[in-house]
Amino acid sequence: MIVDVHTHIEKDDDQSRRDLDEFKKIRGLGPDVDETWACGMNWDNHWQAMAPVDKAVVFCARPYPDSSTQRNDHLAEYVSLHPDKLIGFGGVNPWESDPVAEVRRCVEQLGLCGLKLLPICAELPPNHRKWNPIYQIAQELKLPILLHMGTHFLPNLPLKCSQPLDLDEVAINFPELTIIAAHLAHPWVADAAVVIRKHPNLYADISGLSEFRPYGSLYQGLVYAMEYDVLDKLLFGTDWPLTTPTEEIQRLREINRYVEGTNLPRIPAEAIDDIIEKNAQRALQLGE
Ligand SMILES: [Zn+2]
Repeated sequence: MIVDVHTHIEKDDDQSRRDLDEFKKIRGLGPDVDETWACGMNWDNHWQAMAPVDKAVVFCARPYPDSSTQRNDHLAEYVSLHPDKLIGFGGVNPWESDPVAEVRRCVEQLGLCGLKLLPICAELPPNHRKWNPIYQIAQELKLPILLHMGTHFLPNLPLKCSQPLDLDEVAINFPELTIIAAHLAHPWVADAAVVIRKHPNLYADISGLSEFRPYGSLYQGLVYAMEYDVLDKLLFGTDWPLTTPTEEIQRLREINRYVEGTNLPRIPAEAIDDIIEKNAQRALQLGE
């Protein structure tokens, strides 16, 4: 079973547009970014891109306290169109007035099955106690949580809030909680490997790396994961609309081309197959 554990849909609102403008300004980017963003808003585009996968985790999470409700509603509306294939992860922020109530609403009224959290955008490291009520309810309701980990392009967001080693404390305090560190916490892929090794319910996804950071973060991250024997804790994900499952699968299967003609280690093809086809099904306990 192929599961894409990391896909986004966008909502056309002021906050999204402000983020987009900032992104373009910082990166000096042009209209193709508008296209990617517009693509991310279009449910048909998402649905078509997910054709090669059996299940897709999708979120519409933004870190801003006043918008969780609308975004979760928006997400749930899309997920309800394809409930057999789409797995909706709601979003909450510890600064909103009652995040625990919103998590309950996500599950009980909207049928969402997990949470996407952004500590770096909340400007709180993941092991800050303000997150604990959210972790507690997620553990109680058996909701997997996926956290953005690793770097971020916006200059005002503190990188100290995005360090994978801080998940150690979270996993110690909430041992039953299924936690996924997004993007292999690039560039701190070695830290990600050692922390996921310690905790049975802590995983990492490899989304967003194969195109832009194929050697420094993806290949190196796979090597660390191989040496620490946690390749089976790595989950397939695309970060759609940034990349698609078709592209990502192809690039993953070609990962060893970076070390062709050298004595550097190869990532075994079977381990890559398992990342694409097996690991997420097991981590998220999805039936056949
Ligand atoms: Zn993402």
